[in-house]
Amino acid sequence: MIHSIILAGGKGTRLGADIPKQLLPLGDKPIIRWSVERFHSMEEIDNIIIVSEKNSMAQIKEALPYKLFPKISSFIEGGKERYDSVFNGLTSQKFSDDDIVLIHDAARPFVTKEKIKELIKAVCDYGSAALYTPPSDTIALWNNGFITEVPPRDKFRCAQTPQAFFYKIIKEAHDSYRLLKDRQIVTDDVSLVLLNGLKVKEVPGSTFNLKITSMSDYLIAQLFVREGIIQ
Ligand code: C5P
Repeated sequence: MIHSIILAGGKGTRLGADIPKQLLPLGDKPIIRWSVERFHSMEEIDNIIIVSEKNSMAQIKEALPYKLFPKISSFIEGGKERYDSVFNGLTSQKFSDDDIVLIHDAARPFVTKEKIKELIKAVCDYGSAALYTPPSDTIALWNNGFITEVPPRDKFRCAQTPQAFFYKIIKEAHDSYRLLKDRQIVTDDVSLVLLNGLKVKEVPGSTFNLKITSMSDYLIAQLFVREGIIQ
């Protein structure tokens, strides 16, 4: 089976709106509905789990009614950090070790079916795969107000979602991480698979697959929709 875990467990405060960003309107529907519709319409996807921030659970459910989204099997509460929310999703129901799990940020409304298919294929070949784009800016290391190093840009990639794994691989990675004494906060799932010593295949992402974090991202996303760049 192929599962999609859609993460809407964050408060989305960086955008400055008074409702979580996944519920802000984008075109004729809330942001979260864009990516859920994309996954839901694919015959490859069997099951969708929505991880929601506690206080917006009722609104998220309202935005994703069963009648329109019968593949959504559960709405569950997120955790304090992103990795807690993912763990809640990974332990919310029974999975098989060879199931494929695609973990996606609800704040990325424009993921395409083609990229999801490429990821599924890469997981079958390599076990773990995720979308990446080369950075357009020069990346610098920073410490306490000063720049300490400017490494070569071609060594870097910007991570997007979905990130996709066989269930056994991602569950074991989360379990190992939770046993660590001095855990650094990680901001994606690939980090945990790498900590477990496994390889992750890069699948080229797209700058259209943007994550809505700031007001400028939201305005760009609205432009994409208005201009029909994203259907
Ligand atoms: O904060 P950031 O934009 O990196 O969050 C990425 C995704 O992870 C968002 O869709 C957010 O809702 C989700 N998240 C979560 N649980 C948290 C924090 C973030 O599901 N505790």
